[in-house]
Amino acid sequence: MPDAARLAFDLGAPPPVPEEAIAAAQALLQGGWLHRYGETLGDASDAALLEEEFATLLGARYCIGVNSCGSALFLALYGSGVRAGDKVLMNGFTLAPVPGAIAHLGAEPVIVEVTDELVIDLDDLAAKARASGARHLLLSHMRGHMADMDRVMALCDTLGVSVIEDCAHTMGARWAGRPSGRFGRAGCFSLQSYKHVNAGEGGLIVTEDEDLAARAILASGSYMLYGQHRARPAEDVFARWRDVTPNFSLRLSNLAAAVARPQLRLLEERARIWSDRHARLAALLGAIPGIRLPHRPQQEEHVQSSIQFAVTGLDAAGFCHFLDACRSRGVYLKWFGGEAAEGYTSAPRHWCFLRDAQSPPRTAAVLARLCDMRIPLSLPVEACEAIVGVIAQELMRQR
Ligand SMILES: *Cc1c(COP(=O)(O)O)cnc(C)c1O
Repeated sequence: MPDAARLAFDLGAPPPVPEEAIAAAQALLQGGWLHRYGETLGDASDAALLEEEFATLLGARYCIGVNSCGSALFLALYGSGVRAGDKVLMNGFTLAPVPGAIAHLGAEPVIVEVTDELVIDLDDLAAKARASGARHLLLSHMRGHMADMDRVMALCDTLGVSVIEDCAHTMGARWAGRPSGRFGRAGCFSLQSYKHVNAGEGGLIVTEDEDLAARAILASGSYMLYGQHRARPAEDVFARWRDVTPNFSLRLSNLAAAVARPQLRLLEERARIWSDRHARLAALLGAIPGIRLPHRPQQEEHVQSSIQFAVTGLDAAGFCHFLDACRSRGVYLKWFGGEAAEGYTSAPRHWCFLRDAQSPPRTAAVLARLCDMRIPLSLPVEACEAIVGVIAQELMRQR
């Protein structure tokens, strides 16, 4: 049956590692300098250079490299002064390392609803900030969707809430011309293979806050070699923190940094490709009855390495059959609304490590029929029609 053909392309493919990065990794391996510090190393390690280059790219004063974005979120909260027992607001559509970063501190998440446009609900944010007394918001620009950042920041200023941005999916994206990660007190980025720069693992924090920066560097595990950082605060700031900050050993590997550096220079080109593929897929999907794509405001300059759409008109069983059928044909659709957490996806009701269970109903309803699909950088233009063809056929079969 020709229309049940399987997609030949692997939607799970990570962005390729460029030749220049392979050469840099090989040079490092030959010398053995895989750890970023050394008593005689100075401040020209790949990790220190990556931090300096990323700070310049974002127009930030300080940048701290660590071993993952989850660690970056934890350290940004730690450096903001969050302590065990504190409440931290977060939006309910995100990945598990976000509540995980809050749990890492012994703090308590307060989960805020998301809208049909997949961004934080500002009315619920205001209500829950007031009711809980929380002074911190960990805001995920989940899957590249940015809320109206002017309104978020104005509201949080009024509420006295400090914002940490989770930019795991927004490296290179902007709101009204300003890079994501440059609105809050700190912005956290991922170098994990399925984000915009593929170093395997890694995370970056950017901030203007000198105390947060010094605390994050020390806590990340710099020992007393913090002087080997380049995008760092002055010595007197470290003097305030060096003897009262634990070493959590969450350092960025020099090897990951070497692999990441040449990819920073490719970000614009990658963004162009991803935007092109996303626009093609969105146009094709948007033409199918019963599929709804989130509305994207004009101020949002997104870099979409994935696409999200809601399906209407199917009951739970029909929707599950639809997902299974697409998956069996190579169109792997992720789902955050399943009975159990699966693969990379989970939702608030799966986070049973929270002290008080929370499953905001509106978010649960949004996630119940939301499909999420990766857009690999190497996706050929021709594959876009084939993918949407599979989705359209399988949707029709369930109707
Ligand atoms: C991937 C991701 C993270 C965690 O990044 P790691 O580098 O894997 O720790 C956090 N938040 C979101 C939204 C992500 O997609």
